[in-house]
Amino acid sequence: MQDNLDKFVKHVYKKWKQDNHVSEGEHVNEEVLASFYDGLLSKDEFEHIKAHLLTCSDCMDSFASNFPVVALEKLNVPEVSMNVVKNLILSEKKDSFLEIILRLKEKILEVVNTNGDCLVGLELIPAPVLRSRQIKDFKDEVVILKDFDDIRVEVKIENKDKNVFNLIIVVKNKKTQQVLKDLRVTLIREGLELESYLANSGSVVFEHVSLGVYKVEISSVEARLASILLEVKA
Ligand SMILES: [Zn+2]
Repeated sequence: MQDNLDKFVKHVYKKWKQDNHVSEGEHVNEEVLASFYDGLLSKDEFEHIKAHLLTCSDCMDSFASNFPVVALEKLNVPEVSMNVVKNLILSEKKDSFLEIILRLKEKILEVVNTNGDCLVGLELIPAPVLRSRQIKDFKDEVVILKDFDDIRVEVKIENKDKNVFNLIIVVKNKKTQQVLKDLRVTLIREGLELESYLANSGSVVFEHVSLGVYKVEISSVEARLASILLEVKA
């Protein structure tokens, strides 16, 4: 699904690029993407970033996965192609993103927002309950779970310091609860792959991760299975 989406988005934008003779430039960081999305750039800057997004599948991917789909409308691509892309991204987003926004305090973790369920002791608290009851302060660790088709991803976040955390990822078969060991887990920041491991010991640990916006991807040899968007603030 994700691969098809990637291919399709690339195809549409390649075509657009050919039709519009846009040249490539430097990659766009998330701050600039946010300003672009919020309409805070000058007209020249806006056109410059737009031109880049339409020619760079990495930046486009980051844009499409970090900002609401309506953002694509700002790019002014043909409507028919747009609707196909939008529908693809919408179904993609709904099913295969785990979003976690956290704040690190001294020895307390605050879950600012998540669409995943939260494990508190032995109790599983669904995301809507977490939000409606305003349960957000945890001790020095928190475990967030989300199911993607037939896999269950468990993300444990350990607060090591007020600016550093450990991230432990376990992927299980949803039905049998058996730990899956043949999957690859990759930590990405601003489109850059930082670390990538096979889950062959049962879990993947990223240590001493600093504050920031990350994407964690879980993939098999054939396809990307799940994406986790993680934003950690102080
Ligand atoms: Zn780029």
